[in-house]
Amino acid sequence: MYDVIIIGGGPAGLNAAMLLGRSRRKVVVFDGGKPRNRWAESMNGFLSRDGINPREFIQLAREELIRYAVEIKPIEVASATYSKGQFVVNDAEGTVYHSRKLLLATGLKDNLPQLDGLEPLYGKSVHHCPYCDGWESRDKAIAVYGINRDGIGQALAMRTWSDDVTLFTDGTKKLQRLDLELLARNEVKVCTDRILRLEGDKGMLQHIVLSNGEKRAQQAMFFSMGAKQQSDLGSQLGCEFTNKGVIKTKRLQQANIPGLFVAGDAARDMQMVIVAASEGAKAGVAINMELQREDRK
Ligand SMILES: Cc1cc2nc3c(=O)[nH]c(=O)nc-3n(C[C@H](O)[C@H](O)[C@H](O)COP(=O)(O)OP(=O)(O)OC[C@H]3O[C@@H](n4cnc5c(N)ncnc54)[C@H](O)[C@@H]3O)c2cc1C
Repeated sequence: MYDVIIIGGGPAGLNAAMLLGRSRRKVVVFDGGKPRNRWAESMNGFLSRDGINPREFIQLAREELIRYAVEIKPIEVASATYSKGQFVVNDAEGTVYHSRKLLLATGLKDNLPQLDGLEPLYGKSVHHCPYCDGWESRDKAIAVYGINRDGIGQALAMRTWSDDVTLFTDGTKKLQRLDLELLARNEVKVCTDRILRLEGDKGMLQHIVLSNGEKRAQQAMFFSMGAKQQSDLGSQLGCEFTNKGVIKTKRLQQANIPGLFVAGDAARDMQMVIVAASEGAKAGVAINMELQREDRK
């Protein structure tokens, strides 16, 4: 029986593992090896690690855990249930594990635009998050992709990073007169033509090719199309979700099931590595405090 099973070995799960390892808890971390930012070459906005390769970041974190005797199992978890104060977890090979507490740190996966040529550019010059990649795109010709009216907010926001911003609606024409006036006042250009493909070299966007044959020179693209849970374990366990599809938690990452905690992108709050790590730390401390209370004589 483990004190704690952690599902997800990204920044949230590993930071929780560190606090729990330091609290001398018997901990196992399961990780399927698909962190949300695996497409990116650099991880930005994490004080002291700004610009590090995300894979190197995870490697460093794992090395730091060695001395705390945290077990890490590189395998997916297929199912998790809670019954009578105990969690039962089955890995993808059918091995069963039991724990007193469970932390879900399973992250999200992004909805991507269905555009030819996107894949080699994604995470390198095509991004979602201006706080992660806006600085590297500063003063570039920035395209914002958003169907119908979805890209308006992001196009306006990107003006913080560049004077050259164009909103591409990919053949959708639902922008209204007031939208167009707002965008024009803020010097955001608008292109409503259908996009045929993205062209680039070595991960760097060069052109957006339109269905009318026109090629627009663009150096970066941002989009925001939402994300979904990477695993269905939250649903299996009966978690409550917000209308944005993340799991509702209390101040110290507690979910609605006793002994279940959720940290990182899978839970509510800003979706950045440093926030995920900090939620992991909060969950680690809160879990240890619950265990201390339960064990007190
Ligand atoms: C392209 C891109 C670039 C980004 N750049 C930045 C950046 O520069 N700076 C920044 O702060 N943020 C960035 N982000 C956001 C960042 O990736 C997330 O905020 C962060 O990864 C969240 O950490 P997490 O631990 O919650 O989840 P993740 O890092 O996604 O880790 C979750 C882990 O859980 C595992 N998992 C899921 N389900 C299971 C299961 N059933 N069994 C076992 N394991 C499972 C996954 O395999 C994964 O390893 C970026 C995101 C993207 C998509």
